[in-house]
Amino acid sequence: MAKRSTRQKRAIEQVLHHARGPLSARQIQAKASELCGSLSLATVYRIVATGAEAGDLVTVHLEDNVTRYEDKNRKHHHHFLCEDCEEVIDIQLPCETLAHRLPEGYAVTRHEITLYGRCAECA
Ligand SMILES: [Zn+2]
Ligand SMILES: [Zn+2]
Repeated sequence: MAKRSTRQKRAIEQVLHHARGPLSARQIQAKASELCGSLSLATVYRIVATGAEAGDLVTVHLEDNVTRYEDKNRKHHHHFLCEDCEEVIDIQLPCETLAHRLPEGYAVTRHEITLYGRCAECA
């Protein structure tokens, strides 16, 4: 069992490492099973839950209520969600000046920005 689950965990890590954006458990299952053979959705959920608990990956919650997972090592970025196919990709935005819009005395500690629209395939 140990060997097989290690292979499955590595496959999931690989998939998340190379992904263009955060992936749902079903997307992870589809891509990781190409690398490690059969992989049930329940196994994906177990591995990502353990990974999230250990801080090895990050859960992403957007407006569509699908839980997605991403590599914890990605540097600061934002997301684009295709409203047709629900694909999410990472995007960089010039967000450094956002805090300048705050009323005096307010300070930003963190922010999240999501753009919604259609991906190249759905447009
Ligand atoms: Zn799309
Ligand atoms: Zn930002």
